[in-house]
Parts: sequence; structure tokens; C-alpha cells
Amino acid sequence: MNSSSTAGLDTTSPLTEIPGIGSRHAGNLERRGLFTAGDLLTHYPARWVARGEIREIRSLGLEDGLPVPDGSGDLRKPAITVLGVVEYSRDFGKRNKYGKPQGLQVEIRDETGSVVLVFFGGGWRESHFSRGTRVLISGPIGVFRKKLQFQNPEYEILDSEEEAALHTGRMFPVYPLTRGVTQRQMRTWVRHALGRLIPGLEDPLPESLRARYHLIPLADALWGFHFPESEARRVEGRRRLVFDELLLDQLFVRAAKLRRETGKVSAPITAGSIYRRLRASLPFQLTPDQETAVEEILADLSRNRPASRLLQGDVGSGKTVVALLAAAAAADSGLQTAFMVPTEILAEQHFRTLSALGGDLGLAPRMLTGSMSKAGRAEVLKSLREGQDKIVVGTHALFQENVSFHRLGLVVVDEQHRFGVAQRVALMEKGASPHLLVMSATPIPRSLALVHYADLDLTVIRHRPPGRGTVITRVTGEEKRDKVYSFLAERLAEGRQAYIVYPLVEESAKSDLKAATTMASELASRPEFRDHEVALLHGQMRSEDKEAVMKRFVAGEVQVLVATTVIEVGIDVPNASFLIVEHPERYGLSQLHQLRGRIGRGSHKSYCVLIQGDGLDEPARRRLGVFAETDDGFELARLDLEFRGQGDLGGTRQSGRPAFRLADPIREPMMTEQVRAEADRLLEVGAVTGGGGDEWEPLRRRLKLMLEEAGALTDAG
Ligand code: ADP
Ligand code: MG
Repeated sequence: MNSSSTAGLDTTSPLTEIPGIGSRHAGNLERRGLFTAGDLLTHYPARWVARGEIREIRSLGLEDGLPVPDGSGDLRKPAITVLGVVEYSRDFGKRNKYGKPQGLQVEIRDETGSVVLVFFGGGWRESHFSRGTRVLISGPIGVFRKKLQFQNPEYEILDSEEEAALHTGRMFPVYPLTRGVTQRQMRTWVRHALGRLIPGLEDPLPESLRARYHLIPLADALWGFHFPESEARRVEGRRRLVFDELLLDQLFVRAAKLRRETGKVSAPITAGSIYRRLRASLPFQLTPDQETAVEEILADLSRNRPASRLLQGDVGSGKTVVALLAAAAAADSGLQTAFMVPTEILAEQHFRTLSALGGDLGLAPRMLTGSMSKAGRAEVLKSLREGQDKIVVGTHALFQENVSFHRLGLVVVDEQHRFGVAQRVALMEKGASPHLLVMSATPIPRSLALVHYADLDLTVIRHRPPGRGTVITRVTGEEKRDKVYSFLAERLAEGRQAYIVYPLVEESAKSDLKAATTMASELASRPEFRDHEVALLHGQMRSEDKEAVMKRFVAGEVQVLVATTVIEVGIDVPNASFLIVEHPERYGLSQLHQLRGRIGRGSHKSYCVLIQGDGLDEPARRRLGVFAETDDGFELARLDLEFRGQGDLGGTRQSGRPAFRLADPIREPMMTEQVRAEADRLLEVGAVTGGGGDEWEPLRRRLKLMLEEAGALTDAG
């Protein structure tokens, strides 16, 4: 929040300037990330208690203690809330070494009846429950000796104001706490901070913008969200605060990018004869999505400021050829292209694909990986430096120090989620502001992509090329293994190939590797597979060996590839039409979808069989069931996020970029979309850079502050 002061207290004042916060409390609050008075303004309530939730004690019955579905599919006892006065409290059980009793029993009464609360290990609470104290109790209830009782419920001692608030239909906030701080204290401090700081708070959004989106002023939003007069007020307040979070985040990322790029000039790329010949020689027609992608990318590249675009498309959607067309245009403009991929196997495959498609047009790629011989490496380095070769495909080896380019004009990063921002930047620094094309098969929902890749423009390939066989997905268990194998044997007899994927979980890498190895040899010795070649591929093999196995699989000499997750990204063998995944429960849905993307690439009917482990719980089974029924990578990604939380997708968050407190792009795709468009508009009118009039001054000040704080953070780190 902004730092402008009223009567001594401003948003940057230390917490100890709030009455009631001493150094001990301040220390506790720091552990929750609260350092200044301003931090209290965004220490938002976890929930609110409303009058409507309070039950009459008389109305409580045994059924209130029964578990109910909690929304995530689990059963849980509901929290019941009552408001009453303490009748009596008494301790029970042995005393500990401090002389405190083991437990505390309290009875509270409202106008309709009374109920008992029990706190185990809660003898120290006795002083909170003196006779006549008004308390709000919330928690699950159970039955003891045929009587209802609350066991270790949450409780709040109410003052008369709070109680009055409840009775007049207001809601009151319940804050996340930290050790040694009570709900009552937190509420008082936040209220104090709001009262003192809000009058001096600058609203970063001008009236014109607020009107456009029907947003209430910041001051009203903060009051209305912390201490709502009504549910409607709270919702309005939240909407405004979420809008601010999303907008400031977008602008922050773009402003940081603008700063980085100020004064940078990129070589414009224009398609010429190499590009045209490549297009004419493609063995297929581009899909409409691919056409659009190529157009958008070429438009980006034609400018003299660095393009940065994310090309997002489900596995098998045909991103590689789009990138190759861009590389061809770069070659037309006398510029080199570097393809950065996460694994050697993928580098090799890209190498093969690019060679096949562009080899005859002077676009034969070079490969640079960590496992090359010294001499081979030296030769590639020389050619890149001197500019003979236009395209290089490589792994991490690409951004090492001794790699330099003649004229690097375009950087293509495949399977972006495997790389960090730092690695991307290291490669970019090898050219004079090269253009950037990032490709990702992690089909995160658009709204989340807009946030996660706020510094990239977005192109999405939604539909896969036609003529692909369908993929049938089945979930089964150990008991069907023999059946699965004999079905697989029939497909192999028809000339198809198969992957069997065995997860390698890091903690147990050794035993899992053993399991995969054992499985490969067992499989090889089964009669069904006597006539077929079974091979093993895992991450700990030497890369020459990996390459050899992969080559034999591509050539059809190996029919069954037992692999750990190294096949996950990008591998393309159209004749492979069968996939068995062992222990599918160990993967996320998106990861399973990536694996499934290895098949269904040819015209054959394909089969994906998940052999789930024994003794899975119901939610895990349901999750796999959903996977079997869904072929939409975007939908699966969304479900993954629902199951596992949005997390940080591969460390793409830039340092210094504040995390959201309220905003949730997944649940609020419309708002996210709106804000992104608004951020674009603000950049265009120059609201961030200094144009657009005085009304944008507060917003600029706010952004400047964010950038300075982030700068301070990154400098320090
Ligand atoms: P991904 O987007 O997963 O990287 P790839 O680029 O590996 O997908 O493409 C998958 C397969 O589809 C490749 O074999 C590629 O040659 C083929 N392909 C790409 N575009 C088309 C198209 N328009 N029509 C037919 N096949 C295509
Ligand atoms: Mg790919």
C-alpha cells in the first residue's frame, strides 16, 4: 500500500506503533510475514461469522455430529456455531509440572439451553471462561455419555460491540492467526490500522477506470472486505481488491519487461525464399490453428523490438513445424535460431525432425548436447560462431559460457516448464536481443497462462492435425495384467509398437529402477512376447545407450519400450499405438496426459491402459476415472489444479513479484481476461510510462514502488 502519513502512522510504520503490539507480538507477527502497519491492511480475513450461522443450542441434535461431504469428496464433521454465556468451567485430570490441569470442561448457555465444551490439554484456558463471559463457539460436536459436547472447539470471547454487530446482521472477520495472538487482538489491530491509514491512502485507480468496471473506491473496498456490513458489501470489496491484485501484477511484469528492453533493438525477421520453399515442401497442410500461429509469430518477428510469445498447444498439436517455419524466416534474414530442449532424447528427435523437413533447404540443424565428444563439440561451436549453420538444437549445453553465435536472431524454448527464467535469459544473452518463442505442451487454462506468462504474448493451438487415430483409455488393476498383455501381444502382431511406463520417483529411485528393470526382463521372457524385442530406457543410462535404444525404437527394431518418465516430453513415434502406465496414481493428470500424447500419433487405433496400484482410496480412483473419460488437455490441467492447487508452475514466477492474496485466475477467468485487456490498453495509452494524463500518477507511483521493492529484493539475492 502507499506510504502517505496521517498523524504519525503510515503504511511503512513498524507494527509496534500500533497500540497493543509490543516487541513480543511483533516478533510473532513477523513469522506470518507481517512487518508494517500497512501489512495489516492486506492481512485479509480467512472467513466471516454471520448471525445466520449461529444455532440455538436447543436445536442441536445427534445428526449435527454426523460427517458430511466437505466439497473435496472427503467426509468431515461440520463446524457448528453457537453463542452463549459461560455457566461454569472446571478443570479435570492430573496437573502437569506447571500445576496446570490436564483438561477443562465448560458449560455455556443461551436462551434455549446449554451445552458442554471440553478442551483436552486445555487447562490453561481456564481464565478465558469465567462465569458470565460471552463466547462464540465453533467446531464439530461429538457425543459423550449420550450427551452432545464440543471437543476442542474454536472460541472467541466477544466484546459488546462485536456482539451488537452480530445482532444487527453484520458479519465479523475471523483472521488467520499466529502463535501468541488471539482473534480479538488481531481484529482490534487490523481495525486500528484501517482507521488510521485509510484516510491517507491513495487510490491507484482513477475514477474513470473505476467507473468503467464498476469498482468501488479502495478505501470502501478495504473496510467493506474486512468488516462487511452485508454480504453484498463484502463481495463488492473483494471484487475491487482482486482487480487491483491482478492489474498491478500484470502491469508490474510488463513494466519490468519494458525496463529490461529499453533501448534494445532486435534484427527484424522477414520470410523469404527459404521459408516459401519449406512451406511448399511440407508433407502435410498446416491446420488453421497452425496458420494463425505462424502469422502471429511472423508479425512479431518483423518488428525491431524483441518478440516474446508463448505457443501453447496440447501434445501432438504440431508446434515443431511452426517453430521451424519461424527459423526458416530467420535464415532468410541471415539470422541463426537456437532450439533449446530439456532432454537429450528430445534434442535428438528434434534434430531428426528438423533434418527431415528442412535438410534439403540449407536448414540442416546442428546438435549440441552435454555428452558430445570434445572434437565434435569444438566443431559445432566453431560453425555457430562463424555462422555457417542456421539452426542448432541443444540441451543445457547451449547456454554455457563458451557458446557464441555469429548472429543469433531467434531463440525457441521447447517444453518451457522444464526451464527456469534464468536459463532462458542466459541463452537470450548470446544474441543481440534475439526474438523469443516459447513452446509449451502444458495446457494450463488460458486465464492462468495470462498470469503466469504475463510477460509473453499468447498463441494457442487448440485443435490437433486431422487423421489421427483415436485413443481408448482404460483404468484397470493388477488382476487384469495377463489380459492386458495378451491384448498388447495381438497389437504387436499387427505390427504396432508399445510403451510401458514405469514411474521413477526420486526418493525411491533405486527400488523403482529395479522394478522397471525386472519388469523389462520378465516381459521379455513371457511367451506372448517371445517374438518381440523388449528394451529398457531410463534416465540413468549413458546417453549413447539411450540414444541407441531410442533409435532402434524409432526404426521399429524394438517393439516394446519399458521406460521411466524420460519419454514424457515430446517423443514422436507414430507407429507406437499402445501405452501401459504402471502406478498411474503417482502422476498428475497433466503428466498422464503428456504420456498419453505419445500414442495416437499415427492413423492406428491406440490404447492407453492404466494399471493402478492396489488399495487406492476412492478419490484417487475417481481421479483416474476422470482421466480416462477426458481427452482435453486444458480440462485435465484445470482439474489438476483443482486437485493439487495452483502452485508455482515450474518456477516461472519472477522474483519480487508479489503472490496473490485473493485473486484466483482459475476461479475468475473472466476477471483475469478483462484485466489483461485493460493492462494492454493502459500500456498503449502510456499510463505506465508517463502519458495519458495526471489521473494515472497514483498508479505510476504505486508501480514504481513495487519495482523498487522487487529491485531491492533481486539485488539483495
Ligand atoms: P507437439 O506440438 O507435441 O510438439 P509435434 O510438433 O511433435 O507436436 O507434431 C506431432 C506430429 O504431427 C509430428 O509427427 C508432425 O510431423 C505432425 N504434424 C504437424 N503438423 C501437422 C499437420 N498440419 N498435419 C499433419 N501432421 C502434422
Ligand atoms: Mg513438441
